[in-house]
Amino acid sequence: MNKEALDKAAQDERDIVNRYRALLRSMEGKADNKDKKMVREAFNLAMDAHKNVRRKSGEPYVLHPIEVAIIVSKEIGLGPTSIAAALLHDVVEDSDYTLDDIERMFGEKVSRIIDGLTKISGVFDQNVSVQAENFRKMLLTIADDIRVILIKLADRLHNMRTMSSMPAHKQLKIASETLFIFAPLSHRLGLYNIKTELEDLSLKYTEPEVYRDIALKLKASKAGEIKYLKRFSSRLRDSLKKENISFTLKERTKSIFSIRRKMVNQGISFEEVYDKFAVRIIIDSTPANEKSDCWKVYSIVTDHYRPSPERLRDWISAPKSNGYESLHTTVMGPEGHWVEVQIRSSRMDEIAEKGYAAHWLYKEDKSATDNLDLWLNRVRDMLENSDQNAIDFIDNFKLNLFSAEIFIFTPQGDMRILPKGSTPLDFAFEIHTEIGAHTLGAKVNGKLVTLSHKLNSGDQVEIITSEKQHPKEDWLNFVITSKAKSRIKQSLKDESNVIIGKGRQVLERKLNFIKMRANDSTVQRMVNYFNLKNPNELFYKVGMGIIDNKHIKEFAKDNSGGLYNYLKNRFVKTQYAKESDKATAKKSKVPLKAGDARILVFGNEEEKLDYKLAKCCHPIPGDPVFGFLTSNEGIKVHRNNCSNAVALQSRYANRTLKATWVKADHADFLVNIIIKGIDTVGLVNKVTQIISNDLSVNIRAINISGDDGIFEGNLTLLVTDKLHLLRVIEQLKKVEGVTSVQRKTGN
Ligand code: MN
Repeated sequence: MNKEALDKAAQDERDIVNRYRALLRSMEGKADNKDKKMVREAFNLAMDAHKNVRRKSGEPYVLHPIEVAIIVSKEIGLGPTSIAAALLHDVVEDSDYTLDDIERMFGEKVSRIIDGLTKISGVFDQNVSVQAENFRKMLLTIADDIRVILIKLADRLHNMRTMSSMPAHKQLKIASETLFIFAPLSHRLGLYNIKTELEDLSLKYTEPEVYRDIALKLKASKAGEIKYLKRFSSRLRDSLKKENISFTLKERTKSIFSIRRKMVNQGISFEEVYDKFAVRIIIDSTPANEKSDCWKVYSIVTDHYRPSPERLRDWISAPKSNGYESLHTTVMGPEGHWVEVQIRSSRMDEIAEKGYAAHWLYKEDKSATDNLDLWLNRVRDMLENSDQNAIDFIDNFKLNLFSAEIFIFTPQGDMRILPKGSTPLDFAFEIHTEIGAHTLGAKVNGKLVTLSHKLNSGDQVEIITSEKQHPKEDWLNFVITSKAKSRIKQSLKDESNVIIGKGRQVLERKLNFIKMRANDSTVQRMVNYFNLKNPNELFYKVGMGIIDNKHIKEFAKDNSGGLYNYLKNRFVKTQYAKESDKATAKKSKVPLKAGDARILVFGNEEEKLDYKLAKCCHPIPGDPVFGFLTSNEGIKVHRNNCSNAVALQSRYANRTLKATWVKADHADFLVNIIIKGIDTVGLVNKVTQIISNDLSVNIRAINISGDDGIFEGNLTLLVTDKLHLLRVIEQLKKVEGVTSVQRKTGN
């Protein structure tokens, strides 16, 4: 080895030792000598397994498991078993050591976690189309040991933190997947810090410009805002001290991702997001007194500043189902600025920061265990239903993750947590499948309501059942919980199986009657003849009487010529199908000029392929975009920030195509922009004049509404590219009375 290589090796070793020491420091107070020995052995094994291997960034590979272990220990707060497992998480997959070796050296507990981690790792690291199915598997492992998921989250977090050395298309895929699965999952587990960091890092790669822009603006306004908040909180500090309350008060910033979400959801600019900054008061209290102490602080805060009644959030009396406890209020600070104040005890704060699961594992707190079990049971419930396909499953899972929660009471006063928007039927299925299936009606707070009535938090619901009642197809239109949905579908399926069985017998009898043989080939011919999907559909339609004697006779007549006629029939049919395919293909092609196709190229080979621009987000040249291979409409091009994109990228990674703009032609592209302003005389005229005369842009549609002196315009324009659009926006912003001009994002 030459001197340079020796220096590098020495530096690597110093780095490794430093980080390992940091890991040991993070364990202080929660590990005895035996634990420390286990962690040291895990470290030694990881060193050996990954020796001479480097990451894409060039650093020794073993630094990755060490960093993951530090996250597991410091940021999630897990104990020695998990720390050892984190150190070993890539060993079985990447080296010759086997699971048996791990079990021999570290015992069954650690090896079971490693087994879980190895099983789910292939799922996310490759380009898999069956990712949704694997996600289901991953959640099944939760049921075994939640530590598997927590370590996987730490692994993902470290990979996201060190993603800059990856190629761009991989960054995009990994970031989308993180937004799609890992951020919601960490939210569900109550790991708020990790969730926030995952979201911010994802945004950095999915929408780098937006990320940079918000980060810069935030930095610029931070000093002033913090100064304001210090002034705001100094009055509170004094009063809290006077009351002898022991507390910590922090001024904090909203995450970049959540600012972005607010801007998009409410269609507002960075400057218009009013609660970018918040104050958090953490009090020292005992579990017996913490609730009343929090309310005491609330009363001190509201003595100084007027609260907004709609914005009081009490998650102390009824914690969120992921365990989050806190009291939030938004008050009017000096100079008329709204400020959010969060009040909680240090125990609540620990749960909020590190997550419920970790808290539960570490403290072995009984009440926490109960709630976590409840959640795990719900997850298991969803998983057990094998009927649901994996994609539906994820949709439902996410729906249940993201939606806000409401609290509903049984007539006996038991509380159930349901997602917002739930109906009495959801509630009935939540209580018991049999009750749900036989629901005839419901009373909410003593009054009869329809089954599709939306419940509110605090409602007391009584379900009226009848033995004669059975699940109806239209119930699926308004239930929202995955439990209710899957149970109704299952029941409808059982019912249709009965009809199919009956239909099969009826058909056999009728065919015998007209002297046709009721064998597979006749059935298949009938399926083709009636243009059905499969024999079951035929039996079902016969069973329901949709296909009756008349139809069967027609079939018999057309098929009397035997095989020849049958083949002829089929031939003509397929021929016809082909023709009509062509016709629709021609018709559905977007009216683009011949040259347009050359603008976008796909894949690493930069191939020229036919494509269509997605209607949900109207991409124009210059936008970061990707291609998505649809099942019947060829390639559709979406903007990277289209709200469909995250789901598509993540779910169907194998159907997404890299897309690059190579040459902006003079084709026109549709964009939607929204103009807001104060409704002055002649404003509309001025706007349209600028667009069509000064900039000679074509207006496709214009929709302007005025309300109380506020003007809002929705314009659909034809522009040549992004630059062109930016010029239009800049010009419009200059019009007197116009307060904001924005391009509409997503759908
Ligand atoms: Mn890893």
